[in-house]
Amino acid sequence: MLTDGVALTDQHCHGVVTADLDRARFEQLLGEGPRGTFDSTLGTAVRRFCAPVLDLPPHAGADEYLRRRAELGWHEVSSRLLRGTGVTRWLVDTGFGPEPGHPAERMRSRTAHMATDPALTAGSQRSARLTEFGALAGGTVDEVVRLEQVAEHVIAENGYSATIFADIENALRERARHAVGLKTIIAYRCGLDFPLLYAPPAEPPSETRLTDPRLLGWLVGLGARIGAELGLPLQFHVGFGDPDLRLHRADPLLLTDFLRATADTGATVVLLHCWPFHRNASYLAHIFEHVRMDLGLAIPHVGLRAGAVLAEALELAPFRALCYSSDGYGLPELHYLGALLWRRGLGRLLDEWIADDAITTADAEALVRAIASDNAAQIYPHSHSTEITGTP
Ligand SMILES: [Zn+2]
Repeated sequence: MLTDGVALTDQHCHGVVTADLDRARFEQLLGEGPRGTFDSTLGTAVRRFCAPVLDLPPHAGADEYLRRRAELGWHEVSSRLLRGTGVTRWLVDTGFGPEPGHPAERMRSRTAHMATDPALTAGSQRSARLTEFGALAGGTVDEVVRLEQVAEHVIAENGYSATIFADIENALRERARHAVGLKTIIAYRCGLDFPLLYAPPAEPPSETRLTDPRLLGWLVGLGARIGAELGLPLQFHVGFGDPDLRLHRADPLLLTDFLRATADTGATVVLLHCWPFHRNASYLAHIFEHVRMDLGLAIPHVGLRAGAVLAEALELAPFRALCYSSDGYGLPELHYLGALLWRRGLGRLLDEWIADDAITTADAEALVRAIASDNAAQIYPHSHSTEITGTP
C-alpha cells in the first residue's frame, strides 16, 4: 500500500501509563468513559493487530494478550508498540496525561485535578515526562500546551488577585515559548458556542475549574492571539470524547463565528478528533483557509471503518487541511492502532481511487505525504527537542 513505511507526525497524543496493568484497568483505558471493553471494535483490533507485536498470533485471546503483556512488562511493550507506529515526530498534549503508576486516572474527570496537581504543572516534571516518552517512542517530542490548565494553575497559585488576567497571559506566554502549539478543551467546559471576548471579563474568576463561558471565551481569544503572534496553531477538542462532554455542544459548526473573526489574524485553528462531526469540520476547512482537522481518536475506535471516515473527511476538506494524529492516551496500543488503521484505511481508499483512475499514483502518494507529515510541517514550528534514536 502507498501508506506503508511513510513517516508520520502524530500531531495530537498523550503519554502512556508507566506501570503494568490488570485486566480491569486495561479495559477501562480502551474506552473514553469508564466502559472500555475488549468486546468492541477497538478491543478486537488490539487482539488482531497488537498481539503479533507481542509475539502472539493474530486474534490471540484477551487473557492471553494480557498475560504476555505482563510477561514482557510495560516498558518493553510500550517501546515495541510506539516504535512500531512509524511516527518520527510526536506533539504531546501535556495538559492531561496518565500519571506514573496511576492507570485509573482516566476514571477521574480529565480536568478536575489539574489546577492543583504539582506533578502536572511543574516545568521540570513536564519536560521529564516528554523525555521519558521520547526514550520509549523514539523520534522528536514536542509539547502542546493546554490553555485551561495554565489558567487554572495560575489561579490556584495566586488566588483571585487584581492582576490575575495579566498573570494568566504572562504564564501562557512563558509556556508557549517552549511549545509548538496551544490547545483548548472549551468544548468540555461550556461548549463551542462561547462568546469571543477581546478584553477580560470585569470580574476576576471565582472558580478554580473554569466553566464560565465569558472567561473561557476571553482565554481562547487570548490563545488565538498569542498563537498568531508566535506562529503556534490553536487546537480545539471537537466531537467525541469523555463522557462529561455534551456532544451536541462540541459540533465545530458552533465555531463558525469564531472562525470568521480569526480568519485574517494569522491564527491557525486545528479541529481535533471531529467524529461524528468530521463532515462539518471538512466543510469548515473548505470555507476557512486557516482551518485544519484530524481524525485522531476516531480512527482506532471505528476500526475497519477508518477508510470510510477518511473518505468522508476528504469530501470537502482541501488536501492541505487534513493531518494525522492518534490521540493515543494511556495505552501504547492506541498510538499503534491509530497509525496502523490510518495506514490501512487510507491505503485501501487510495488503492480504490487509483483502480478507478480517479487519481494518479503520484498524486495519491503526495496526498499520503501531506496528511502523514507535510501538512503538520506547514503549520507547526520546528521541533524544540533533540531526536532520541537509541534503543531504550
Ligand atoms: Zn487528546
